[in-house]
Order: sequence, then C-alpha cells, then structure tokens
Amino acid sequence: MSSTHPPYTTTSEIDQIHERLRNNFRVGTTRPLNYRRRQLHQLGRLVQENLPALEAAVNEDLGKPRLEAVTELNGLMSGIRYAIDNLEEWARPEKVEVVDDFKKEWDATVYKVPQGVVLVIGPWNYPYILNLGPLVGAIAAGCACVVKPSELAPASSQVMTHLITQYLDWDAYAVVNGAIPETAHLLDLRWDHVLFTGSGRTGRIVSAAAAKHATPVTLELGGKSPVVIADDADLDLAAKRVLHGKGQNSGQLCVCPDHVYVPRAKQDAFIDALLKHYDAFWPKGAFHEEARWGKIINPPHHERLRNLLQRTKGELVKGGEYDGDRRITPTIVKNVAPDDSLMEDELFGPILPLIPVDDIEETIRLINEQTVPLVIYLFTNSEDVKQQLLERTNSGTLVINDTISQLAVYEMPFGGQRDSGHGRWHGKYSFNTFTHLRSHISVPLAAEPVMSSRYMPYTDEKYEA
Ligand code: NAD
Repeated sequence: MSSTHPPYTTTSEIDQIHERLRNNFRVGTTRPLNYRRRQLHQLGRLVQENLPALEAAVNEDLGKPRLEAVTELNGLMSGIRYAIDNLEEWARPEKVEVVDDFKKEWDATVYKVPQGVVLVIGPWNYPYILNLGPLVGAIAAGCACVVKPSELAPASSQVMTHLITQYLDWDAYAVVNGAIPETAHLLDLRWDHVLFTGSGRTGRIVSAAAAKHATPVTLELGGKSPVVIADDADLDLAAKRVLHGKGQNSGQLCVCPDHVYVPRAKQDAFIDALLKHYDAFWPKGAFHEEARWGKIINPPHHERLRNLLQRTKGELVKGGEYDGDRRITPTIVKNVAPDDSLMEDELFGPILPLIPVDDIEETIRLINEQTVPLVIYLFTNSEDVKQQLLERTNSGTLVINDTISQLAVYEMPFGGQRDSGHGRWHGKYSFNTFTHLRSHISVPLAAEPVMSSRYMPYTDEKYEA
C-alpha cells in the first residue's frame, strides 16, 4: 500500500457528508450561475496550481509518463474552460415551438434544473479526467457532488481529496475514499444521479443498488474495442496509430484498441509495419528508462495478463517480457483465433492480438458476436466499407483511420452502448446528464371560455360540439 494512501471515509462520515450536501443543495447554494462559474474557475486553479503534485501522484500509482499525465490534465482543463464558456447558453431555458394555435400563449418552456445531489464513482486508470471530468458537468449543472475515486490509485485519490477540500466549496463537493464496503454504503443512500465509470461487472452492481431508490444511472463501462483493417487501408499509418493507441497507459485505457482484424493476406505486411514503428517508439526497448514505460496497476492484473499470454494459442511476434516492477513490454501476437484466451475479456494491458480474417463479412460477423464495444476503429478510405460498418455493427463511437482521438473532440457525446454502458458525458452532454429538463406551461386565465367543454358533466351536447 502506498505511503500516501488516503484514510478510508467511515460510514458515519459518509452519512454526514451526504446530509451536509443535501441540506446545502436544498437551500439553493449550488444553483446560481455565478456560483457554478466560480467553482469551475476554482477547479481550473486546482489543476493549474498543482500540476507537479498531480503528475507525481499518477506517476506513483501507475508509473504514468509525464507527457501522458499532462495530456490527461490538459483534457480536463479544456473541459473546464468549455463549460465556463458555454454555461450561460446550456443553462438558458428553452422556449418550445407549439404547433396548436390555441396553446401558443401557454409559455411552453423547458427549464434546465439541477438533478440534485449526485455521486460520481471513478476508476483508477485516468483518475483525474474520470473523476474530476464528471464533476465539471455536475458543477456546471448546479448539482452538489460526491466523488468516489478508486482505492487502487491511492496517491491520485489522496491528492484529489486534499485539493478538492482546499479549492472547492466544502458544503457542496466532497471526496469519499474507500473500497467495496465504503462504495456499498454510499450506494445505500439516496442520490439524484449516479455516474459510474468502471467495469461492466461493477456497473451492474451499481445499477441494481441505484434501482432501489429509482435513481437514474449513467454507466461508462469497458469492453473489447476492435480495430478493423480494411483491404484498402494504409497499413503503415494504421500500424503507427494502432500501436500509439495501444501504448497509452500501457494499454489500460477504456478506448484502447483491444485487438485487430486484419485481412489474412496482409497480416505479414501489417506486422512489418508494426515492428518498424515499435522500433521507432521504443528504440532501446520499452523497459529502458528513456522509454518511460508505465506499470500495470497492481500485481493481480499483472498476473492476469501474464496468464493470458501463457494460455494463448497465437504466435508471439514481439514483446511478452515482464519484470518485478509490474511492467509488461508492448506485445504483438499473430494468428489469434476468435475463441482464443486473449479474446475472452477486455485485455486492459499492452497486448495486441492480430486476428486474420477472409473479408469484411467475416469481420462484421465476429464483431457482432462480441459484446457491443465502446468504439470501433476502422482503417479504410472506402465509403462503402465505412457505410457497412456504420449500418451493420453497433458501438459507442466509430472512428475512421485513427485511434483514441475521439477523446479530443469534447463537443461530441461520449459513452457506450449496451454492454459498454449507457448515458453520455463530455461537454454539453455532461451538463445534460446532471440536468433535469423541467417542462413548464402557464395556462392563461383568459383561456377559460375555450376550455369550458372539458369539464364534467360529460353531457351529450359536449360530445356533439
Ligand atoms: P472497477 O469496476 O473495478 O472499479 C470502479 C469503481 O467501482 C472503483 O471506484 C471501485 O472502488 C468501485 N467498485 C469496485 N467493485 C465494487 C463493488 N463490488 N461494489 C461497489 N463499488 C465497487 O473498474 P476499474 O478496474 O477501476 O476500471 C477498469 C474498468 O473501467 C475497465 O473495464 C475499463 O474499460 C473501464 N473504464 C471505462 C471508461 C469509460 O469511459 N467507458 C473509462 C475508464 C475505464
């Protein structure tokens, strides 16, 4: 356990936090736009003024290279700025165009009201963007919010706990630390919305617990996100971009390219391209200190990945080395069968299985036999192939000719479909997630004569009128 492990929040502290936030939400503390804007600015200051501490903490948890930590924090800052810039517009009540002449004067309006006191449960792999990112949406929407980061990333949980207390309104935003018992206690309480990011297995537990209070839930889950190399793909660029995506956080990324469907006749050429870029990315090997190659989160996950590699019937092309510091080199495995051990579950590690296929028909069939992925990465310049994937497969996102760059388009909704989750966040979609659309009409007293026929008694004259 890390020396910087935050103390777990006790059940009575959790109850007090819940009560405190509910009371403050009830009196309207978090609603004014000026308050929300101020808190978002404070969250921005929290990041900007503490970059070294934030970077050091994810380095301690995951050996995350500085460039990747900075990218994560820059993404968070962009989200904060975007929310501040657009808050006024997002929160503005919307007049509704009413068709019926008679109802045009009823002031049909949709008000954007905060859902209430909300809970964000986050994973360990990108602790800042996945805990504080949803918090941005909650603040923007005028909610009070508890954040529960993962106990598996203790240093980043510790730094977030300390800084949120220091920078944000203590009466409206809090961090609860802990593992399963603490999260279970949180889930026994009533929340107005729960946004969960993590595994499908835990997501189902969270959903069931929230259902007891009829609480709406957003589930951001994982899954096996495939890469599809079409016949016409630029193999060199595809190899470079796939390897780059796979290398992020040592493959521990929800939108990591999990495995690759490659035309059988092109597998060798694709491997040549992968090896060329492998040597360029890690010229002295991934374990050389200049490579700044990160760690697997904990020994059980390290062992899980090693076991998968021992059990695979595919052929090792490159990598597969591991060390006592929870690292595994980027690993390429070829001729992997669709029912191989590497295809059982989301890999969540630096292993890239290549599955040779005969044609796009076979690829589509194999994708549809799997759970619905968070994203499909398709490498092609063919409009026809793109349309086929769009129309005949499902996924949270479809990305053409790149990996992971969908995360940079903050204006788009982000989320999965079925097995990979439901609900959306990022930008305006985070605001919407934590907002209730409250419909409103105001019926003029003067409309009474026109309405007279609706009242009891239901006489025959009224039917005939
Ligand atoms: P996890 O489900 O084990 O844990 C997530 C959170 O749930 C943690 O805070 C943890 O403390 C809590 N938790 C764990 N077990 C629990 C239980 N039984 N009851 C209540 N709470 C519990 O997930 P993880 O290992 O932290 O994260 C990895 C997973 O998250 C991968 O599947 C990955 O694909 C997914 N993920 C998805 C996204 C996305 O945006 N869709 C982003 C990142 C990670």
